[in-house]
Amino acid sequence: MSHTIVNPADETVVTTVEAATVDETDAAIADAARAQREWARAAPADRARVLRRFADAVDGAIDELAGLEVRNSGHPVGQARWEAGHVRDVLEYYAAAPERMSGRQIPVAGGLDVTFHEPLGVVGVITPWNFPMTIASWGFAPALAAGNAVVLKPAEWTPLTSLRLAELGLEAGLPEGLFRVIPGRGSVVGERFVTNETVRKVVFTGSTEVGKRIMAGCADQVKRVTLELGGKSANLVFADADLERAAATAPYGVFENAGQDCCARSRILVERSVYDRFMELLEPAVQGVKVGDPADESTEMGPLVARTHLDRVASFVPDDADVAFRGTAPDGPGFWFAPTVLTPARDSRAAREEIFGPVVSVFPFDDEADAISFANASEYGLSGSVWTRDLSRGIRVARAIESGNLSVNSHSSVRYATPFGGFKQSGLGRELGPDAPLAFTETKNVFFAVDQPPVVA
Ligand code: NAD
Repeated sequence: MSHTIVNPADETVVTTVEAATVDETDAAIADAARAQREWARAAPADRARVLRRFADAVDGAIDELAGLEVRNSGHPVGQARWEAGHVRDVLEYYAAAPERMSGRQIPVAGGLDVTFHEPLGVVGVITPWNFPMTIASWGFAPALAAGNAVVLKPAEWTPLTSLRLAELGLEAGLPEGLFRVIPGRGSVVGERFVTNETVRKVVFTGSTEVGKRIMAGCADQVKRVTLELGGKSANLVFADADLERAAATAPYGVFENAGQDCCARSRILVERSVYDRFMELLEPAVQGVKVGDPADESTEMGPLVARTHLDRVASFVPDDADVAFRGTAPDGPGFWFAPTVLTPARDSRAAREEIFGPVVSVFPFDDEADAISFANASEYGLSGSVWTRDLSRGIRVARAIESGNLSVNSHSSVRYATPFGGFKQSGLGRELGPDAPLAFTETKNVFFAVDQPPVVA
């Protein structure tokens, strides 16, 4: 069976990709297990060197990888170039890890006690279609650095950059079989990562619904699991904030990647006393978002990834929706949806569910307590922003919001050097940051008994 890859900007066929069977998946996992034993025995400095070469290979292929992401996913070329550069940076950052995976020496009676961070073996990484190469790297780079092999299943719609990254890894000197990208269906390849006993951990990024299923499946073998799931994050704007900046940046906190971003601040909560002024400022900011051909350097927002996804996003904006205003989008072929601002009721579907498209809902709030309580009234807890000039309030509110990644007076979410992940049903475990390689290890404690010489009186 094969999967047809369609360019979301013009609906032309880019290529077809063969979908792997269960037998092919098992064979790749067995190869990965063999390669891992050799990789784990290699000197830490040698593993580090290969990862640095892998980073260099990605650096040399930034334009090529970006071009692939433009055609496969419709990402604006400037953003796609940033994504490829981010993969390089993630590899470079974790290339330092093999030589720094220090255990501890713990004082105990009768001998010497030390801990080791042993690799798990084969790690299965399952990625979504929204940020194919960056999310892949958050799994494979620290996992490889910690001495594991990686089998990676990209999303059916967007496998091209992941396939190219695996080739670059091989060219850079990764042992054959150590890092394999296996395109295919979630219910075949992804499911097999869960059931094949040689895979010792599954790193899953995707919908909360599939994530729960994977967690339940992993329970059967007490398989390690990291989950990065959905979000419905809040952007809180207090009356004392720099309103001009808050309004000018709000569209980029939600419409980046056409809103197909788990960290999208898709609920904007504005203190009632400045609500009207904020909306006046937000309207031109939304209309100023440049939506169009992703290959154009000046484009800020491209199309949605696929027709079925476009239909789902559109279902949140029926004819009688409370639309405050909209931006623009091209006509003609392609999966286009204009940035849309809604003012729905707090309990409406648009206010509660993850839309994963360029649709944002704005709500007034009464005071700090009301803002925090509505921000937390969600099963999700991934990211969020707080806009205020009051330092104490910024600290108080950031601490009170039940979410893994918050920014005060900005919309920053992901930095490779800081931990990333969700509270509540947004996920389990953390990726990135200095500790990420440890999530791909087991701690082993070894006690060496030391013979004591007889006590001389
Ligand atoms: P999805 O859950 O449909 O698919 C994700 C991946 O899982 C795909 O590769 C898919 O083939 C695979 N899959 C599907 N069924 C499977 C099964 N039964 N067993 C194993 N694998 C299976 O999600 P999606 O539509 O690709 O991505 C969108 C979702 O991802 C959104 O909810 C978004 O919030 C979430 N997301 C989260 C983060 C994060 O870091 N928290 C980042 C990006 C996306």
